[in-house]
Amino acid sequence: MSLQQTEKSEREEPGSAWILSAKDALDSARAGDMTVSFEFFPPKTPQMEETLWRSITRLAPFQPEFVSVTYGAGGSTRQRTHDTVKRILDETALTPAAHLTCVGADRGEVDEVIREYWQAGVRHIVALRGDPPEGQSSYTPYPGGYAYASDLVAGIRAVGDFEISVAAYPEGHVDAPDAQAEIDNLKRKIDAGATRAITQFFFDTDCFLRYLDRIRDAGITIPVVPGIMPVTNFAGASRMAKMNGASVPEWFANLFDGLEQETETRKLIAAIAAAEQCVRLRAHGVHDFHFYTLNRADLTYALCHILGLRANAEKEPVK
Ligand SMILES: Cc1cc2nc3c(=O)[nH]c(=O)nc-3n(C[C@H](O)[C@H](O)[C@H](O)COP(=O)(O)OP(=O)(O)OC[C@H]3O[C@@H](n4cnc5c(N)ncnc54)[C@H](O)[C@@H]3O)c2cc1C
Repeated sequence: MSLQQTEKSEREEPGSAWILSAKDALDSARAGDMTVSFEFFPPKTPQMEETLWRSITRLAPFQPEFVSVTYGAGGSTRQRTHDTVKRILDETALTPAAHLTCVGADRGEVDEVIREYWQAGVRHIVALRGDPPEGQSSYTPYPGGYAYASDLVAGIRAVGDFEISVAAYPEGHVDAPDAQAEIDNLKRKIDAGATRAITQFFFDTDCFLRYLDRIRDAGITIPVVPGIMPVTNFAGASRMAKMNGASVPEWFANLFDGLEQETETRKLIAAIAAAEQCVRLRAHGVHDFHFYTLNRADLTYALCHILGLRANAEKEPVK
């Protein structure tokens, strides 16, 4: 290539490898080989409900593979999760996925919830063990309940032909003794009938890529979808990371250093950091992304756009 050509191509492709990767992402998104899914939590108040629905309506045109609704700690949002999932089913063309945990209910009660979902037309459940109820430092299975997520997956399979997603942990689950135990447990969940894994959020992208190599080496072939959490509240995210066993790299903490009172700047940085993560994952062949939206549309909207998706008004799926 001549100097002249080099200069020309540098003008056409300004800047860094980041931009080139973003362009690749755009090309492959156009080719239609990428999926996104969005996670929401059930609202507590009418105002929160309004925010949630504004966000769902704004993100719906990206045509997510599914939108999931979490299940509050200790089963505390059983009715609200159900109502939110039902409303998504009734009022939109989106596919809802209901989170369900083993905590605070026996098998009969959990089976009843599963049957209610089946009868309502829900066909996707995110099956989880759940965390210990408030006041308990370690997890003990509920008497007569499903003990672990793999047991719950088997219980769901027995009720209907659901699509079943489960949790995965690139940095290991806090109760798992080592990395192999995490892989063995994921295998148990797949053997019981899980069809997809969604990961805990992570900030260290290399860690996820190494994990992906390990699970593929272990013969796991189901989609293992990275859970992406754009962080605007660094203090809150650090607390969550500590509880969930996700590491917070020093460089990531430094990004937010001194910005405690700078809400808008934190938001810009959150977008840049998450965009960098998504584009890198895309450059490593990752096709599917699950976004922890925290019921806000803005950052997830920007990330989908950067990944090459376009909110196409003509395909607007909200009824
Ligand atoms: C994508 C995603 C969504 C989530 N959504 C929710 C939600 O809506 N509501 C909520 O309350 N929580 C949610 N969580 C958090 C989750 O409930 C916790 O992380 C919980 O501590 C573990 O759940 P799990 O399904 O991974 O458990 P499991 O897969 O059952 O594993 C939990 C631990 O038990 C160990 N284990 C598994 N089977 C056995 C066995 N037979 N004997 C001994 N040890 C065993 C595993 O190695 C692991 O350390 C979510 C997490 C993720 C990643």
